[in-house]
Amino acid sequence: MNIVLMGLPGAGKGTQAEKIVAEFLIPHISTGDMFRSAIKEGTKMGLEAKSYMDQGLLVPDEVVIGIVKDRLSKEDTNSGFLLDGFPRTVAQAEALDKMLGEMNKEIEHVINIDVDKNLLLNRLTGRRICRECGATYHIIYNPPKIEGRCDKCGGELYQRDDDKEETVATRLEVNIKQTEPLLNYYQNKQVLRTIEGNQEIDEVFHSIEKILRGQA
Ligand SMILES: [Zn+2]
Repeated sequence: MNIVLMGLPGAGKGTQAEKIVAEFLIPHISTGDMFRSAIKEGTKMGLEAKSYMDQGLLVPDEVVIGIVKDRLSKEDTNSGFLLDGFPRTVAQAEALDKMLGEMNKEIEHVINIDVDKNLLLNRLTGRRICRECGATYHIIYNPPKIEGRCDKCGGELYQRDDDKEETVATRLEVNIKQTEPLLNYYQNKQVLRTIEGNQEIDEVFHSIEKILRGQA
């Protein structure tokens, strides 16, 4: 079962990825993990990726694609895999199709967890952190007992710059723009399924499970 998992930041992709790989016993291949292990193993690709990351640059497509190709050639992917964080662009998706074709494989399911942008804004901007002890809260999902005060130490709660509405909105817009051509690409290949992400975690997973089992 060869799966690509997509979704904007805050859509619950990480949680669903864990559930999918546990249920279907396939490896979870996330770009972050791939980079870390390639760097740790000191592969040529890993060292190359590291040189870009150390300079704060985006790792170029050919390097990312090389790392994915290395990973997908390992035996544990024979019965399937879940790709997370890759592909990010149509060029990467085309390269992925090409390398899988050479292995007589293909992407069977692209699952896109779709959550309304405004809801994501609420999720992503609600985080508050204690200045004193670093405890984290969420004004909607995990509020402190007294507004603006830490339950544990009484410290003042604040919002990180990264979590401010303007920053988050920009980040989401950039993501939406980047993702759109990729969604169209998979839509045209008739492998794209969009899941309503604004449900309980277990309901989202149930919807995904039905698709993967061919029951929906
Ligand atoms: Zn505190």
